[in-house]
Amino acid sequence: MNKNRTLRRDFLKIGGAVVAVIPLLAISGRADAATNAAMRTSLKYQNKPNGDQKCSGCVQFVPGKTPKAMGGCNAIAGDTEISPDGYCIAFAKKG
Ligand code: SF4
Repeated sequence: MNKNRTLRRDFLKIGGAVVAVIPLLAISGRADAATNAAMRTSLKYQNKPNGDQKCSGCVQFVPGKTPKAMGGCNAIAGDTEISPDGYCIAFAKKG
């Protein structure tokens, strides 16, 4: 195989990876932010409480840096944008 073809293929691989990352950054505006849309939909996640049930009071919630900061959820893998005031059908009240 000639060297130019190999270089071109490597360039295309890198370019594809960069293009795949851009939409995530564009949506969130933060390099470390990520959402898991499929799990959110499956668990009917919403950004507001359900009465007195909210993520900050759920055993699955992984708090952010401050009480009001977005956090994570053990039931929604890879999602870093879970609101402490959010809610989903997997809610389980902290003991
Ligand atoms: Fe919030 Fe649902 Fe995760 Fe509990 S399981 S922290 S209610 S998203």
